[in-house]
Amino acid sequence: MVKAIALFSGGLDSILAAELIRRQNIDVTCLTFVTPFFTAQKARNIIRQISLPLLVEDITVEHLKMLKSPRYGYGKNMNPCIDCHTLMLHIAGRKMEETGSHFIITGEVLGQRPMSQNKQSLYIVAKNSGYADHILRPLSAKLLPPIKAERENLVDRSQLLSFQGRGRKEQLKLAADFGITNISPPAGGCLLTDPIFSRRLRDLFLHHGDRNIRDIKLLKYGRHLRINEDIKVIVGRNKADNETLCKMATTDDLVLNMISFPGPFVLVPYGNLAYKETAASLCVRYSDAPDNTGAEVLYSRGNVSEVIMSTAAAKEDCAKWTI
Ligand code: SF4
Repeated sequence: MVKAIALFSGGLDSILAAELIRRQNIDVTCLTFVTPFFTAQKARNIIRQISLPLLVEDITVEHLKMLKSPRYGYGKNMNPCIDCHTLMLHIAGRKMEETGSHFIITGEVLGQRPMSQNKQSLYIVAKNSGYADHILRPLSAKLLPPIKAERENLVDRSQLLSFQGRGRKEQLKLAADFGITNISPPAGGCLLTDPIFSRRLRDLFLHHGDRNIRDIKLLKYGRHLRINEDIKVIVGRNKADNETLCKMATTDDLVLNMISFPGPFVLVPYGNLAYKETAASLCVRYSDAPDNTGAEVLYSRGNVSEVIMSTAAAKEDCAKWTI
């Protein structure tokens, strides 16, 4: 039986591409990825509609290595889309070999994204992935040179499509023909395209390039304030932030919370006790304690802990430090 691996984000184009090939009686397995920057949730939610098997791979380590120095640089934010696509195709190629599949499917549409889906970008990512002759883009295949599986008649090129451009009219019509109704909005979901997250990540790479995956995950929660080249303070913004930061703290971190007033959980990653006063003043600043009066703050690091009095940090300092 002919087998294919479909790169599957859960977006409409990836669904249509997989379904189009499945309708040629080809055994399609979908593949989706997880990193600290995007999850498999959308793919997991949508896969039931087309009843295909879904493999979920955590590619954090490889993705992070690529992210630190992408060959083709970043997009508008910290999104290295060309290198990211290349890596995903490379991993899909490995999966194709492991599973004895014949080719890889992607939902890419020629010209849909001016930077990452023009003819040259599609060519570059395919070539750099090491699997150029195995990558089929069923939605635009008739506009692209035939791949090996087409030349060998493993897949019927006459049933493939020639979609191009940014419009979604043809995709929506095809979805209706296939009876696919639960259509999620295009794109979105990658934190590397978020300006605030990108600023934090850039700051982390600049100051602590060697930090671990936990420190990247921490970028998603709380306010981040850089005090100096060595130290950053994270202040929870709400109950969910406070609980998550508390769970993610280790004995190497300095942590603080208010004693007598509602207030944030404060985490200073790898912070030593020399920073307890500054961190305490931030804890008070973002608490319900009245301005200009001292309030009690509990700090701890490892098995050392103590209650100290602190006043709120100046608002101008907070603005200056905010990443
Ligand atoms: S948007 Fe994010 S997940 Fe998508 S290709 Fe770009 S970096 Fe990768």
